[in-house]
Amino acid sequence: LEDAEQHEFQADVARVMDIFIHSLYTHKEIFIRETISNASDALDKLRYLAITDDSVLGDNKNLDIFIEYDKETRTLSFTDTGIGMTKDDLINHLGTIAKSGTTQFVEALASGGDINLIGQFGVGFYSNFLVAEKIIVTSKHNDDDQHIWISKASNTFSVLKDPKGNTLGRGTRISIKLKQDATEFVDEETLRKNIKKYSEFVQYPIYLKVKKEISREEDIPEDEIDEENGKTTRLVKETVWDWERINESKPIWLRDEVEDDEYFNFYKTLSKDPRDPMSYIHFTAEGEVEFKALLYIPSTDAADMFKNLYAATAPVKLYVKRVLITEEFHDLIPRYLSFVRGVVDSDDLPLNVARENLQHTKILKLINKKITRKILQELQEIADEEPEEGETENEYIEFYKELGKHIKLGIIEDTANKQKLCKLVRFYSTHNADQLTSLDDYISRMKDGQDDIYFIAGDDRHKLVQSPLIKKLRAQGYEVLLLDDPIDEYTVNTINEYERMHLQNVGASDWVIPEEDEEFARKKEKALKKHYETLLDWFKGLMKGKVQEVTISRKLHEEPSVITTSGDDGQSANMERISKAQA
Ligand code: ADP
Ligand code: MG
Repeated sequence: LEDAEQHEFQADVARVMDIFIHSLYTHKEIFIRETISNASDALDKLRYLAITDDSVLGDNKNLDIFIEYDKETRTLSFTDTGIGMTKDDLINHLGTIAKSGTTQFVEALASGGDINLIGQFGVGFYSNFLVAEKIIVTSKHNDDDQHIWISKASNTFSVLKDPKGNTLGRGTRISIKLKQDATEFVDEETLRKNIKKYSEFVQYPIYLKVKKEISREEDIPEDEIDEENGKTTRLVKETVWDWERINESKPIWLRDEVEDDEYFNFYKTLSKDPRDPMSYIHFTAEGEVEFKALLYIPSTDAADMFKNLYAATAPVKLYVKRVLITEEFHDLIPRYLSFVRGVVDSDDLPLNVARENLQHTKILKLINKKITRKILQELQEIADEEPEEGETENEYIEFYKELGKHIKLGIIEDTANKQKLCKLVRFYSTHNADQLTSLDDYISRMKDGQDDIYFIAGDDRHKLVQSPLIKKLRAQGYEVLLLDDPIDEYTVNTINEYERMHLQNVGASDWVIPEEDEEFARKKEKALKKHYETLLDWFKGLMKGKVQEVTISRKLHEEPSVITTSGDDGQSANMERISKAQA
């Protein structure tokens, strides 16, 4: 290895490696998933390039993954015919440049996160160190000669030009020398089981080299021929190595019969979220634009936890005629639905789909519209379900607690679907400060003659419920929505009116409680103003420069006074608090 260059692992990468090397994690087999997933990514990248220039495929048009093992040497290797890595790629991507996820991964683990989440952080390659004592990566990229990367799980790695030449043609081989305690992975059954489990949905054929017993007819040497039976050939058994295809290749979204757990497993592969999704939608769209879609609604906000990372990848993947378009098309789904994961596969777009092309943009917009409608419809169905026995809340409320702000954001951003989203939005209310309610349920409980929907906003619903500003209303039997999420007030301001009822901020100073005898109430107010004129003047003098106005109010129930905001500049106290926090 005279020509090998030594490189030091970047500090965060070294920490990640260290975690894997010393991990007592019991599901070490996840390195198989990560390594196959990298091979699959490399094949996707090559296939995508080949759309516009098929010369990148050269002599080898096959896009495959091969896995081999050797018990004697305790080695395991994964070979793909994907895009490969140049010498610089090997140095940069496998050691010297840390991605944003690298540090986040270390932090997530420190705060109790599960190693299984690695896929989301872009550190999957290093999971090989769960089982490896030494890793050799051999790679041939079209733009460079074949190079070798070697790491013995220490602080440095070496890179050299392969003295054997460009033997791979194109692609990458990851060869792993297993640790003493990981010998279980040089076993055919263990490998077959794990490859099947983790790679069911990889679109490229995965072959495992297996031992096979075959019978073969061979000529009997002349001096051994039995004169009596006159046979000149005999059957011999022998063991040979042969490639066995492990995964099915038909994409799941094209299949008609799919089991629930297959749907769930595909979600996990796609989203890298180890939890089950709340729900999936599998449909074929027909009409103006035709496509197949398989979409998932997660049960938790996994996507948001790793916002920075996800910002880079589109939540819904676009396939054209079964080919993954690796360029990101974020416009496939509205931003507020970015928690949805899935795939869309259309024959109506060309493989070289481009954002700049008006016709393509039009089709993408139509797809977006249909997907959005389907998702909102699915959410409504879940929202309409009765709670399970013994539960007070249905699954939708659980979902809403995690992802509800997306619905509230949708109301602000998606005017076309505002009505549908208003049916999906939930707020806390004085009906039960710990239970979310829909606007429809609020309306069903409204008092006779009430024609506004009342709300009050602040930072803590348990304080809001005690607010002197709503005591009188409550005493009179009115229900008030308690908005304590910063986005709530923006959302209700956008809703403005629902079912011809105005959403009224009862905290605003210019708003008064409707009285049954409005004329009497006004007269009484006038009389009180007169009666307390001296007191008011004294108060005004006392509070000069601190408040805008001191007046008699109808709002109060038992308290003598309250401070409110004017609302003249359109900002409530709560909104002001929020903008201050943002500044
Ligand atoms: P991620 O896959 O999320 O990018 P990984 O740690 O799994 O993170 O891989 C790091 C990088 O190493 C990849 O982004 C890719 O550039 C490179 N890489 C890993 N395996 C392969 C492979 N089989 N072929 C080509 N490049 C690869
Ligand atoms: Mg990876």
